[in-house]
Order: sequence, then structure tokens, then C-alpha cells
Amino acid sequence: MKTKTNTKPAITGGTPVRQEFLPYCKPFIGKEEISAVSKVIKSGWLTTGPKNKEFEEEAAKYLGINPKCAVLVNSYTSALHLALVCSGIKQGDEVITSPYTFASTANVIVHCGARPVFVDVEKDTLNINPELIEEKITDKTRAIIAVHFAGHSCDMDAITKIARKHDLIVIEDAAHAFGTKYKGLQCGTLSQFGCYSFYATKNLTMGEGGMIICPTPDVAERVRMLKLHGISKDAYKRYEQSGSWYYEVEECGFKYNLPDIQATIGLEQLKKYPLILQKRKEIAKLYKDAFFDVQEITCMPEKNYCSHIWHLFTIRLDFSKLNINRDAFIEALNKEKIGTSVHFIPLTLHRFYQQEFKYTSKDCPVAAEEYSKLISLPLYPSMKKKDVRDVINAVKKLINHYRR
Ligand SMILES: *Cc1c(COP(=O)(O)O)cnc(C)c1O
Repeated sequence: MKTKTNTKPAITGGTPVRQEFLPYCKPFIGKEEISAVSKVIKSGWLTTGPKNKEFEEEAAKYLGINPKCAVLVNSYTSALHLALVCSGIKQGDEVITSPYTFASTANVIVHCGARPVFVDVEKDTLNINPELIEEKITDKTRAIIAVHFAGHSCDMDAITKIARKHDLIVIEDAAHAFGTKYKGLQCGTLSQFGCYSFYATKNLTMGEGGMIICPTPDVAERVRMLKLHGISKDAYKRYEQSGSWYYEVEECGFKYNLPDIQATIGLEQLKKYPLILQKRKEIAKLYKDAFFDVQEITCMPEKNYCSHIWHLFTIRLDFSKLNINRDAFIEALNKEKIGTSVHFIPLTLHRFYQQEFKYTSKDCPVAAEEYSKLISLPLYPSMKKKDVRDVINAVKKLINHYRR
């Protein structure tokens, strides 16, 4: 019997490519994490403690850095805030970054009293365009935050060269890039500070969590103090036999410490991390191969200086060749039972940055233009080959139907 090919979009009354909805994202959590969490809970040590230290040591080993320079905190946002505080960013300063990021990158600049200065992105990688940085440097500029979008590294040599010339601090937003390599070196360790996120959707997750890589053990000691109210002894030592009840507030710090419950999830994730990255790469390759000869689709590049960890698989659609726009395409994919997302709405398009800092949609035109063409497809280690095939079929089905 000949099987009828499924060509009518579900949004117009056709049959969806699959029956069960495929979510955009799912954490890769197994019994190892569950049993590790249960051990921590039974141990009675729920807040920052030995598991934090263990994670810092194991992560430092993975990254090839001094473990004294790695400090766990409760989010990337906290990590970046501490990086900016330790960089001396204050009222009236300017910090350069890309608009192609999550709100937290720029919000933290604002919390320091500084102005976020958005520099447009490279059209292909959607990372900050080094060629456009110098024209935005003023005598108030103090730092550059380089966002490694989707797990593809920025052109760090070009950025570092500009920073040295103008005496600026470089901070890496490596929220997407734990394990990404730039010219063989780990992203997040290539400048003064590197900040990672271990949020629920990230490649390595603790549910919530973050880590900051500091330039020296001394700076890291200050970060350890600042992440717990700026007091001289951390809770870990305070409640040990060797600790004491005495502490002193040395600086006005924050409440940014990470519970051991989270850290222990991270330790289990770290053990599987090579497998996690391997699976992500395999799925990315299936997508790339499938879309290679589809004219309307461009996949994100992998430049020769970068080893990509595929935090996101973002496709770019040429809507000039299609009778549908991006938002409707997402809706149609949803009706095919495929979950998707969009990364990111450029920060120059958000009301707060427009009202407070007078950005308009004309600033960073490349970011604004590319944003309207992008869709992030599901990519996570627990996806089956059939799931990947369903996504590919759904995208191709819609392209064929809406082709002009
Ligand atoms: C997830 C993400 C963040 C925020 O991380 P948190 O750990 O939730 O604070 C910041 N920047 C980028 C690029 C992100 O994707």
C-alpha cells in the first residue's frame, strides 16, 4: 500500500507530523542526580558546603585552570554582578556589550550605575562585531562583555587586542559556552573574568547556578566574601568544629551563594558532560545535513577558530522566499507538535532600554534584522533520532507548503 505523504500543514487542518508534543527543551537528569541530591539532603548540609568546593575543583580540572580562581554562585547574573563589582564598575561608567543576549547581561550593568553600550553583531555568528567596537569607546568606557552566543565563541583575539589598546577589562558571558573552545582554549578562561550559567535550560544544569572565573586567587577570595554578605568567614567554616562563631563584615556584600543541593547536581552533570556534548553535536549534525540543500534555510556557522557546543540550534529562514512570517511559522510548527523558541529579542528593542537609554530599533540594525528571521529548534541529549526527524520533517513540510 502506498503511504500518503503528509503535506498539508496542521495549522490549515492537516495531520501534525507527530502525535505527542515535542517540548523545546528538557533537562538531562537521571537517577544519578536524584540519588546525589538525596544523599546531600540526608547529610543535613543543605547550603554552601563541601559539594561547592568539590564542584569548583572538578570544574577547574575540566577547564584546565587553578581551582582557587573558580567560585560557584547561585546564577550567571550573580557571577556577572560580582565580576563588575570587582572590576570597579561604578556610576557614570560605560560597559560595551552585544544586544544579542539575555536581559541579565545588561541589567547588571545598570545595577552598577553604568550605561550599557550596545555594539551590533556579526551577521553570521551573531556575536559582537569587533570591527564596530572602537567607534563606541569613549573616555567613560571601562569594560567589554563578550557574549558567546549559542555556544559559538566570539573572536576573542580581536576583542582582546582592542581592550589592551584602550585599557579595558574583558568579561566573557559564557552562559552558553561551558566547554566551548576558542583556538583550543576554554571559553570563560580567556579574559579577566568568565561567567557561566547552570540554569535549567543550559547544557550543564543545576536547576539554578552559576560560576565566576577570576583572574587571581586573591580576587576569587574577595568574590567568596562578597557572595556571602561580605563577611570574613563563610557559613561552611562557621558551623564546622574548626570554625568559630565570630565573623566580621568587611564589605557590603550580597547573598549570592549556591546551596550544596545544586552543586551536587552539577557534579553528576559534569561526569556526563562529555556524553552530553557528544549527543548535542550529533543532533546538530543531523540538522545541518538535513537542511544543507534547503535554499530557504541557513544554519549557524562554526568558524575554524571555534569548537562549538551547540547550546542552541538556531536556523535562519529567508522569508522573502516564503508566504509566511517568522511568528506564524512558529505557530505552524507548534501545531505540528514541535516546540521552538527565539533567541534573542535584541535588548535594543525592549521598552526599558529604549526609555532609559534612548535606544531605538535603528540601533544595531544587524541584530534587529536577523532576529526577525530566527527560530531555535529543540536540541537536547534525550531526543531520539525519531524526534529529530520529526522536527526536520515539520520544518521541511512548512517550507514546501509556504514556498513562493
Ligand atoms: C541564561 C543566560 C543568562 C542568565 O543566566 P542565569 O544563570 O539565569 O542568571 C545570561 N546570559 C545569557 C546569554 C544566557 O543565556
